[in-house]
Amino acid sequence: MAFRRAVKGTLIGGGAIAAAYGVSQVFEYRKHQARLAYVEAEGQMNAPFMDALPSRREQLSTLRDTEEFDVLVVGGGATGSGCALDAVTRNLKTALVERSDFSSGTSSRSTKLIHGGVRYLQKAIMNLDYEQYMMVKEALHERSNLLDIAPHLSAPLPIMLPVYKWWQLPYYWAGIKMYDLVAGSQCLKSSYVLSKTKALELFPMLKKDKLVGAIVYYDGQHNDARMNLAIALTAARYGAAVANYTEVVHLLKKPDPQTGQEKICGARCRDVLTGQEFDVRAKCVINATGPFTDSLRKMDQQKTANICQPSAGVHIVIPGYYSPDNMGLLDPATSDGRVIFFLPWEKMTIAGTTDTPTNVTAHPIPMEEDINFILSEVRNYLSPDVEVRRGDVLAAWSGIRPLVTDPNSKDTQSICRNHIVNVSDSGLVTIAGGKWTTYRSMAEETLDAAVKAHNLKAGPSRTVGLMLEGGKDWTPTLYIRLVQDYGLENEVAQHLAATYGGRAFEVAKMAQVTGKRWPIVGKRLVSEFPYIESEVAYAIKEYACTAIDVIARRTRLGFLNVQAADEALPRIVEIMGKQLDWSEDKKKEELEEAKRFLHQEMGYRARSEQLTKMSEISLTQQEINRYKKRFYKFDKESKGFITTVDVQRVLERLSIQIDENALHEILNEVDLNKNGQVELDEFLLLMSAVQKGQVSDSRLAILMKAAEEGLDQRGPVSVDRSGGGV
Ligand SMILES: Cc1cc2nc3c(=O)[nH]c(=O)nc-3n(C[C@H](O)[C@H](O)[C@H](O)COP(=O)(O)OP(=O)(O)OC[C@H]3O[C@@H](n4cnc5c(N)ncnc54)[C@H](O)[C@@H]3O)c2cc1C
Repeated sequence: MAFRRAVKGTLIGGGAIAAAYGVSQVFEYRKHQARLAYVEAEGQMNAPFMDALPSRREQLSTLRDTEEFDVLVVGGGATGSGCALDAVTRNLKTALVERSDFSSGTSSRSTKLIHGGVRYLQKAIMNLDYEQYMMVKEALHERSNLLDIAPHLSAPLPIMLPVYKWWQLPYYWAGIKMYDLVAGSQCLKSSYVLSKTKALELFPMLKKDKLVGAIVYYDGQHNDARMNLAIALTAARYGAAVANYTEVVHLLKKPDPQTGQEKICGARCRDVLTGQEFDVRAKCVINATGPFTDSLRKMDQQKTANICQPSAGVHIVIPGYYSPDNMGLLDPATSDGRVIFFLPWEKMTIAGTTDTPTNVTAHPIPMEEDINFILSEVRNYLSPDVEVRRGDVLAAWSGIRPLVTDPNSKDTQSICRNHIVNVSDSGLVTIAGGKWTTYRSMAEETLDAAVKAHNLKAGPSRTVGLMLEGGKDWTPTLYIRLVQDYGLENEVAQHLAATYGGRAFEVAKMAQVTGKRWPIVGKRLVSEFPYIESEVAYAIKEYACTAIDVIARRTRLGFLNVQAADEALPRIVEIMGKQLDWSEDKKKEELEEAKRFLHQEMGYRARSEQLTKMSEISLTQQEINRYKKRFYKFDKESKGFITTVDVQRVLERLSIQIDENALHEILNEVDLNKNGQVELDEFLLLMSAVQKGQVSDSRLAILMKAAEEGLDQRGPVSVDRSGGGV
C-alpha cells in the first residue's frame, strides 16, 4: 500500500515537475521585471538615509509632535517592522510602536529557518493544489531575497532527510528535486542523494539501524531577533519614527466628513517605561500584533469575532556536538505526522518542536513535558551510544504561532494556510498569520491594501533587493580586518561580522583594551561565548532599554545557555546602569527581572527543578561511599557541609585559582535550601542526578571530581565548564 502510494507520488511528482517548470519560468520573468522596476524606483526614493540613529527619546518626541503620519504600524515583530520599512521607502510618513522590545514576541522564538516549506510542496503535488504551490514558490523567492539583503545574518544550511525504507528514496528524491526546480535560479544549492556510508560520515551521531541513505537539500537559516531588529533599524534610518516599549492602549476615531461613519485616525500610546500617555495621529493604522491581533481588532470593534487560534511551539537548545557543524537533520513526516528536526545554530543545536493549542500570552513558558517529549524524539534518531541527557538542555523557549481564520471567508472555522490582510469598516488594516520567511511580501501586500483603502500617495513597494542594516558593507572576509585593525580574537571578530555586518567596526571601536598581549581589545561577557562588553553599550544605541533586551535579542545568550546568561547579567546591568544612569534600586530591579525571565521563559526553572524535584538519592551503597569520600576531602572538619572556604582551601593546595564570585555561583547552583553551604545530602542528590543524566554540567560536581583526582596525583588539573560524564 505504502509502496503503491510512493509510486503514485513519484509519477504525479514527475508530471508536476514538468508543469511546474513552465509556471516557474513565468514567475521568474515576473520577478525579474519587478526587480528592474525596483532598481528604477530606487532613484526616486527621496527618503533620507540617516547614518546616526535618533535616540529613543527623539523618536518619542517625533511620534508625539508630528501632526499626522500617513501610516502608524502597531507591533514591532517581523511583520510590523517589515510594514514600516515598506511604508517609509514608499515615501510615506511612517510610525511604528512596539509595546515591549522589537522581536520580543514570536519573531525571536522561531526555528530560525528561511524556507519555502518542503512539506507544503509535497501537499501541493499530492493534491494538485495550485494555490499551495504558489505559496511555496513565493516563499522560495522571499528566501532568496532575504539571504541577499542580509548576508551577514543569514546563510544557506544543508539539511539531511534520513531515509529508512528503500522505496522512500526515489519518492523523497523527486520531491526535493522539485523543491530545487520550483526555486529555479533562486535555488541555493542543488540537493543530492547520499549512500548510508556517506550519510553516516557526514552525520556520525545518526542511528545506523535501518538507515538506507539520505537526501540533502538546502534552505536558509538566520538569527531571527537580529534580523527583526535590522529591519526596524533600516526603517528608522530611512526616517520612520520607531519606538519600542510604546503600547497602543486604544484607537482614536473621528467621523468621516462625507459619510459620517467613524474612522480610525490614530492611537493613544503609552510609554511603558514612564507610564506617560500621548496620541499619535495617522491616516492609516496597521495592526501587525501577531498573536495579539484580536486584542487590537477588539479595540476597533468590540464585538468582532476572534480570528487567531494560537498554537505554541517549544524548542530546546542542546550542545553543539549533537549535530555536525554545518548540517541539520529533519524528518518532515514522523510516524505520528509531526516534524522533528535538529539544526546547528550559533554553535549549538536547536531541536523541536511541539505544536499545541494555547492561550495568548506575552510570556510563554516552555513546559517540562514539552522538553522531555522533544528529548525522547531526538533519541529516536541518534545512535544508542550517544546518550541524550535531560541535563544537556541548555535553554528552552516557547513561541506562539498566530494561526488565523479569514474574516472575509464564509468558512470562519477553517484555519487560513497563509496570511490574511483585512480592512475593517473603520479602516483598521490587519495583517496576521504567515511566516517569518514571507514578512516582506506580506508587508508589500499590506501596504498595497493600505494605500488603496486610505488613498495614500505612494508608489510601488521598493523592498526587493533593499539592503538591511549592516548588510551593504559586509563581505565574507570582513572579520579579518577586525582582527588585523583592532586586535580582536578571531572568534569574536567572526561573531561581530556575522551580527552587525558592516557596522561591526562601530562595535569594535567601542571595545575596551584587555591589558593582555592578545587579544588587544574585546573583553568577553562570559568566557565560552564570543559576546563582548562593548556590545552592551552598542545595544543601547540600538534601542535596548532593559537587561533582558541585551541577553535575549541584542545578544542571544539567553537563548543559547541560560546559565551563562545568568552569569553575564551582573556585568551587563553594571554597564547599562552607567550608560543609562540607573540608581542602585533600578539596577537591582533589572537584575531580578532578567533572572525571572531566564527562569520562566528560557527554561532555567525547568532546569533547576531537575535538582529540586529529586527527593530521593538513587545511588548504590558503593557509590554513596565513593561520593562521601570525595565530599570529606573538602569537609576536613566533618561538619557535614562544605562552604566556599572549604573549596578554596583545596583549590589552593592544587594551585588552582577561581574567582570568589564564581565560586559562590558554583555552590549556589547546588545549594537547594539556600543556606550558603552544601550539605552532604545535597551533594549526594547532585551526584544521583548526574548519574541519571538529569544534570550534566554541574560545575561543582566536575570541580570536585577533578580536585579529588588532583589531590590523589598531586598535579595541576584543569577545570572544564561543561562536558559532564562525571
Ligand atoms: C515555534 C515557531 C517556529 C517558527 N519557525 C519559523 C521558521 O523557522 N521560519 C519561518 O518562516 N517562520 C517560522 N515561524 C513563524 C514566524 O515566527 C511568525 O510567523 C512570525 O514571527 C510572526 O511575526 P509577527 O510580527 O506577526 O508577530 P510577533 O513577532 O509576535 O510580533 C507582534 C508584536 O506586536 C506587539 N504588540 C502586541 N500588542 C501590541 C500593542 N497593543 N501595542 C504595541 N505593540 C503590540 C507584541 O509585543 C509583538 O512584539 C515559527 C513560529 C513558531 C511559533
